[in-house]
Amino acid sequence: MFDKILIANRGEIALRVLRAAKELGIATVAVHSTADADAMHVRLADESVCIGPPVARDSYLNMPSLIAACEITGADAVHPGYGFLSENARFADMLAAHNITFIGPKAEHIRIMGDKIEAKRTARRLGIPCVPGSDGGVTEDAEALRIAREIGFPVIIKAAAGGGGRGMKVARGEDDIVVALQTARTEAKAAFGDDAVYIEKYLEKPRHIEIQVLGDGKGHAIHLGERDCSLQRRHQKVWEEGPSPALNASMRAEIGDVCAKAMQELQYIGAGTIEFLYEDGKFYFIEMNTRIQVEHPVTEMITGIDLVNEQIRIAAGAELSIKQSDIVLEGHAIECRVNAEHPSTFRPSPGRIQSFHTPGGLGVRVDSAAYQGYMIPPHYDSLVGKLIVHGRTRNECLMRLRRSLDEFVVDGIDTTLPLFRTLVRNQDIQNGQYDIHWLEKFLATGGMD
Ligand code: ADP
Repeated sequence: MFDKILIANRGEIALRVLRAAKELGIATVAVHSTADADAMHVRLADESVCIGPPVARDSYLNMPSLIAACEITGADAVHPGYGFLSENARFADMLAAHNITFIGPKAEHIRIMGDKIEAKRTARRLGIPCVPGSDGGVTEDAEALRIAREIGFPVIIKAAAGGGGRGMKVARGEDDIVVALQTARTEAKAAFGDDAVYIEKYLEKPRHIEIQVLGDGKGHAIHLGERDCSLQRRHQKVWEEGPSPALNASMRAEIGDVCAKAMQELQYIGAGTIEFLYEDGKFYFIEMNTRIQVEHPVTEMITGIDLVNEQIRIAAGAELSIKQSDIVLEGHAIECRVNAEHPSTFRPSPGRIQSFHTPGGLGVRVDSAAYQGYMIPPHYDSLVGKLIVHGRTRNECLMRLRRSLDEFVVDGIDTTLPLFRTLVRNQDIQNGQYDIHWLEKFLATGGMD
């Protein structure tokens, strides 16, 4: 096992990793920018190192600073959390060159899945069903038109290097395709420094359903059920739940087995998520994330398995401690991402939290690095905390979520808490009847006015 883990992240996920490390008896090193000097992850870690100025490029994304921090403190492993360097194969390679373990998959797998064209090719080879579309990248107008005609409009043009819901353009008919292709390429170049794009069928009313996997790279891989992340705004997840209201046990077992077998064949190491769109009883692979995800607590609440603990143990060379038959899904869990944003305009609202009171009680978990008097810096994402609630049934979970949201107090800044208080009382949500466009439509038709 590792002696000391450096956590190359901030906010609630830095705390989440720190907690898992402490429970394993491993010493922790926090890193921080000058803007985060009094952040909670710095206070709770055994040691801390300042790695640069507020702007992430010069601190949390600064690889030489992070390696130097490992060397100064003698850390023998790095947990990247999510975001920042978590899916950066070069960082994984660089750590390996310094004999420091990257707590995550092989650099090779990060590379494959980071290029969405390559990821789809790999998924197809492994027998995972994919969204119909181009086999590779598309550059020419005529080629784009040919493929779009073949698969049928509407189509979506997506950046190969895409992420965070950016770099996607929908073309509804032949007149749109040339502009959509050019805009997608220009935006992809600006956002990711890579103008490679591909085309796939645009699904009109799918749900976003993702499968959590764990592999030990030693021939074992399992799945831990699904999370339904269909409630999105600008392709960003807002509310996640598991199990999905749209699946039954046999559908779950079927797609789960496909994913577990694929990961076994790939000899995948660590935690990962295989994302699908789900429409009319069919699954279509869209991408794989080779890291722990924001919404991982949903799975932890219904399986009782500590995913970060598993990541650390597997990275240290242990075999998977659990078999597929050990995974039993119990009850229902919902996660709300509470952001420092206005609940209807979504304008960011950085600033000082005047009072902070989190809900509690049976089945209630709050993952947050905020506290009373905490100043939310404007430099990073706007997540204030995640409220995750578990119940024996979906209905019990919804009732518990409703009272937990009513207990939650964050004063001094705007948050999205009022949005969730409205959602939890909405009939469609209560019935589990929503697709990936539901929330945008709800907001556009004045749901929050
Ligand atoms: P990112 O890596 O930017 O998150 P994804 O490929 O995971 O991109 O897609 C993010 C979201 O965009 C999906 O959850 C879905 O809402 C939407 N989306 C992606 N591909 C399609 C598609 N083929 N049809 C309809 N919606 C899509």
